Amino acid sequence: MPAMWRLDPDDAAAALAMLRGARHVLLPTHQHVDADSLSSAMAMSRGLQRLGVASTVLVSDGQLPGSLRFLPGIERVARYGADPLPDYDLLCLIDSSDLHRLGAFYRDDPARVDGHVPMVNIDHHVTNGRFGVVNIVEPGAASASEIVTDLLAVWGVELDRETAQLLLSGIYGDTLGLRTDSVTSRTMRTAADLVDAGANPMPVVDALFRIKPKSTVALWRIALRNITWTGSLIWTSLSDDEFAAAGAESSEGEGIVNFLLGTDGSRAAAILYGAKDGWRVSMRSMYPQVNVAQIASVFGGGGHPRAAGCQVEGGEDAKQAFVTRVAELLAEIDMTGVSTPAATPKPV
Ligand code: AMP
Ligand code: MN
Ligand code: MN
Repeated sequence: MPAMWRLDPDDAAAALAMLRGARHVLLPTHQHVDADSLSSAMAMSRGLQRLGVASTVLVSDGQLPGSLRFLPGIERVARYGADPLPDYDLLCLIDSSDLHRLGAFYRDDPARVDGHVPMVNIDHHVTNGRFGVVNIVEPGAASASEIVTDLLAVWGVELDRETAQLLLSGIYGDTLGLRTDSVTSRTMRTAADLVDAGANPMPVVDALFRIKPKSTVALWRIALRNITWTGSLIWTSLSDDEFAAAGAESSEGEGIVNFLLGTDGSRAAAILYGAKDGWRVSMRSMYPQVNVAQIASVFGGGGHPRAAGCQVEGGEDAKQAFVTRVAELLAEIDMTGVSTPAATPKPV
């Protein structure tokens, strides 16, 4: 179990002072927004409202997945490119390990995050670049939503039912319903506290893990057909054309890599999403010995020890070279002490 974390009281106070002093706080999510990124920003925005501070949550690449439209208050969230930006004087980044994660909001005008607008940085990625004036980075937290729950409590902000629902959604999103090895007893206590505050887990489980459009099933059919083994890496890929054929949006491939993880004979699983300029890679492992964040960092990416990603430029050749290199890195790992069938590569 990961080490228990504790907020630094000075950092928590400094973040509160900055946020309180702002006229309008902009809270951009990371690109390919997930439940943790969006929910933690939305919960923070509600907390700021209670503190009398105006704020806007911004989906930073403009793409809002259908599976997140159940979040209470989603109609108040702005989409980059579709909605006007407010006149903001403070940025609060939550769940973004580096500024490139801000997608089109960053790419269209990198000066937005050059420091002339001060930043509060709240995150749980060990690879976080600490680019804020205040940095609250807790890699021991399983989700950013856990950190925001604690911050609001430390600041004395009352937790209403909707805020609790948002924060529980974020925790469930990043922990697959309290199932990842990043989950600590503290994660579970926080989730329980949120339920005590009125959060209802069932709509979260339904929206994030059960309900799906038919296009998702059509996409999975293609993804399962594309499964390939390279050494002990089990992987698949989906091209833009295959998304179009299934009638699916980009977020609908999210669960596939978690399904591949744990297959007998695999040390790691990956999915590569192909677009014109290259491949967006998601990687997963389930062994302390297999640090996919480290592997992703070889390719300029990052993330968590068991869930990480990177971007690979190029076409089919680049894809093959990538999976071959990952398989080589996996083969070098000493798996002594791991005896489950999944970790014991065999000829496939
Ligand atoms: P995903 O596979 O997209 O669910 O991402 C898993 C983790 O890897 C997340 O915590 C991301 O922050 C991180 N991650 C994904 N892609 C990248 C990237 N290109 N650079 C840095 N971190 C990434
Ligand atoms: Mn995230
Ligand atoms: Mn997160």
